[in-house]
Amino acid sequence: MFDIDGTILNCNSAGRASLIEATKEVFGTVGRMEKLDFQGKTDPVILQESLQIMGYKQEDIEKNLKNLKERYFYYLGENIHKYEVIVYPGIKELLQILKKRDDIALGLLTGNFTESAKIKLSVCNLFDYFSFGAFGDDAPMRNLLPEVAKKRIDTIYKIDISFKDVIIIGDTIYDIRCAKYAGAVSVAVGTGWVPADILLKENPDYFFPDLSDFQQFLKLLED
Ligand SMILES: [Mg+2]
Repeated sequence: MFDIDGTILNCNSAGRASLIEATKEVFGTVGRMEKLDFQGKTDPVILQESLQIMGYKQEDIEKNLKNLKERYFYYLGENIHKYEVIVYPGIKELLQILKKRDDIALGLLTGNFTESAKIKLSVCNLFDYFSFGAFGDDAPMRNLLPEVAKKRIDTIYKIDISFKDVIIIGDTIYDIRCAKYAGAVSVAVGTGWVPADILLKENPDYFFPDLSDFQQFLKLLED
């Protein structure tokens, strides 16, 4: 299961800019969103934290959430074409190889809303590689997402998968912690914004500076 931002691609702040535009439109302010650290957080949590700091009540946030999400997806759909989207080295090749294997299921595990994940991946023709996913709108905390993914795997493939057979790939300490929390194999990649030494301190099972040496990654699947 792959994280998206910093792991598969870098959409160069298209997401952040869209969230800020949508929030400004719906709430008239962006709270402290411009200063917030988005890293590892799910989209709903980013919205909650930012708006709560501005003094909005939970019920006001909830009342406007549907509209806010719709506006966010609208802006993201526009901005994704304005900002340069970079797919990291080896990703496409790796996904192409893995997609052909019938002993592998490719999934997403991301804090993005389902729709924003789709917008970001579709622009580089990568969305269709994934047959399932767990997203920010499934659970507010990243650590709860593996269980959601497990249920989806069960529904789609009729397999009660063991987490030791699941690889969670991400670019932040939160992806590593999430994998460990679930008992999955953690693969950290250095393509995001986190220095390698910080990632290595979390003791991921494997670390790759990027996935350009995807043959090396494929060896993990032999165990
Ligand atoms: Mg990430």
